[in-house]
Amino acid sequence: MHSKKYKEYRKRYRETHKKELQAYAREYREAHKKKIQAHNQKYRETHKKEMRAHGREYRKRTKEARNFLHKLYYVVHIERIRRRAKAYYKSVLKKRHPRLDRDEYLKRIMKPFPEWTSSEKDEKLRARILLERAVRKKRIIKPTLCEECNVKDQLEGHHTDYSRWWDVEWLCSRCHHRRRRKCVSVK
Ligand SMILES: [Zn+2]
Repeated sequence: MHSKKYKEYRKRYRETHKKELQAYAREYREAHKKKIQAHNQKYRETHKKEMRAHGREYRKRTKEARNFLHKLYYVVHIERIRRRAKAYYKSVLKKRHPRLDRDEYLKRIMKPFPEWTSSEKDEKLRARILLERAVRKKRIIKPTLCEECNVKDQLEGHHTDYSRWWDVEWLCSRCHHRRRRKCVSVK
């Protein structure tokens, strides 16, 4: 047993000789690198369970502190985070989905229907976007022949009710044009 006085002496010694002791430890680690690595490796292998339990316990113990730090980071850097998200949206998403520039899209597809109200336009836009997405994801299979004239062509979905966006007749552009004119005159 070390006496209390000796313990105090050692503590003081460590404090006053900090730099030398650190340098010595560094040197020792450098000189015995392989031995230390092997020892650590062996320890990790033989103490797997304890280490895992320790990690779990550590994460549990520091969970609140970590969550707090994350929240703090968010609060402090909110401007930067928002700026980055915006830049990302502009650079990547717009390139990937140029059609989703809403105003442009609306102007283009609503050209033949100048008399429609904006809520009708919204409904039509929604139906179109949902249908296009479903076709792209192969949830709805687009046929190859026009359902009216049986010609093989690039087909367009004709809606009779925009709230049933999935319920379309697949028509070639000529038949679709004719059908739309009919619908408008009936209205
Ligand atoms: Zn047709």
